[in-house]
Amino acid sequence: MLTQSIPASNPGGFDTLNLISPLCRAVSEEQYTLPTPIQMEAIPHLLQGRDLLGCAQTGTGKTAAFALPILQGLAKHKEKPRPKEVRALILTPTRELALQIDESFQVYGRYMKFNQAVVFGGVSPRNQIRALSRGVDVLVATPGRLLDLFNQGCLRMDKIDVFVLDEADQMLDMGFLPDVKKIFNAIPDTRQTVLFSATMPDEIVRLTHKFLNDPIKVSVSPPSRTVEKVDQRILFVDRENKSALLASILEDESVYRVLVFTRTKHGANRVAKILTKKRIRTEAIHGNKSQSARMQALNKFRSGHVRVLVATDVASRGLDVDDITHVINYELPKEAESYVHRIGRTARAGATGIAISFCDAEERGYLRVIERTIKQNVTVDKDHPYHSDAIASRASHRSGGNGNGGRRGAGAGRRNPNSRSAKPGKRSSQRANPSAPSGYGKKKRSFRAKPHKSRPA
Ligand code: AMP
Repeated sequence: MLTQSIPASNPGGFDTLNLISPLCRAVSEEQYTLPTPIQMEAIPHLLQGRDLLGCAQTGTGKTAAFALPILQGLAKHKEKPRPKEVRALILTPTRELALQIDESFQVYGRYMKFNQAVVFGGVSPRNQIRALSRGVDVLVATPGRLLDLFNQGCLRMDKIDVFVLDEADQMLDMGFLPDVKKIFNAIPDTRQTVLFSATMPDEIVRLTHKFLNDPIKVSVSPPSRTVEKVDQRILFVDRENKSALLASILEDESVYRVLVFTRTKHGANRVAKILTKKRIRTEAIHGNKSQSARMQALNKFRSGHVRVLVATDVASRGLDVDDITHVINYELPKEAESYVHRIGRTARAGATGIAISFCDAEERGYLRVIERTIKQNVTVDKDHPYHSDAIASRASHRSGGNGNGGRRGAGAGRRNPNSRSAKPGKRSSQRANPSAPSGYGKKKRSFRAKPHKSRPA
């Protein structure tokens, strides 16, 4: 849940949005007191049937922004949909996101009567076909499976009156654009269309011109705002010392719900294996894992049975887990947008989080692009046993020469008297204090998170 302060009279509350009582009731049971900015701006227009182009990422409350008006629209229908008919279609790039959206409809629509179904690949289509055969009011789908089922005649798209395209930029990245266009062409022109995208690359802009009808444009939480809530640190480290550095950070018990990012599936498996060997409860999620393995891993992470989840960018997209204390970029992403998405996972629900990024010699270029995009230098933390001065100094022009980002501490610039020596690697560079005794992990200060709402059981 997003944290918002509640003024006594609650001006601008949900009651000003003209939502029907079953929806108001569900929303208040969720303890949403104030609509989020995207809800405030989008809901009145969507209730009037306008098309909408939203620049917003997960975590802004965008699901309720489209789900509540859709549900309100469904309340007008006196009859059930006919077999194979769909009334509202929500297209989303990943299975995880599809399940989350489907669940949100269940939550917000719990006092209404309507049929819903969710379809995605990687599982048997049998139950999905059965659900569609009855006709559904709300269908949440990923593009590939939806088109397969459509081509097999399992559903009709000619009665759809609301179409939501969620995470459009991610659809593009994942190569779904041709499928998305086919789906647009199969739905009646008279539909209401809602398109959400965290960024607006040219292809998405072209798509909106072609398929949206005079849309209202709403933009919330540009990347910099999310980024500001996150305490970001960069740790310069030789590649061969990364796993030891990660393990030493995890010695700190306050680093307790941790999302680690790698660039590749292979990298995710490797990191998970290393941590598991060190008896740190870890799971990996990436595109090569089966749907059920991914769900299992995610559930274990959510419930606190697993402390570390190692993920690739695609697998983590839309991941809705509150109380992630730390995001660790084991490998920096090539795209600055991915960096913003990654670190945004730890500043959910109004909390502040910590994002720690490892940067090896090859990744300095990525760091430069990231810093240009977020318009700030990330604080350098030298206060760890694997710090590489060689990498730091070659990256130092970024911050006026001191390699410290010119910003606040978090250990930046300090020598750690308790640092233990890094294992000398072939390319091992200067360390902060090569002769220091052991004890880095006992020093809890460096990576301690600000207090979070709850610890996992
Ligand atoms: P979303 O961006 O749709 O993934 O939503 C992010 C989180 O915010 C979810 O956990 C929602 O339950 C929560 N949320 C959505 N709207 C509100 C609201 N008006 N007040 C408080 N929390 C909300």
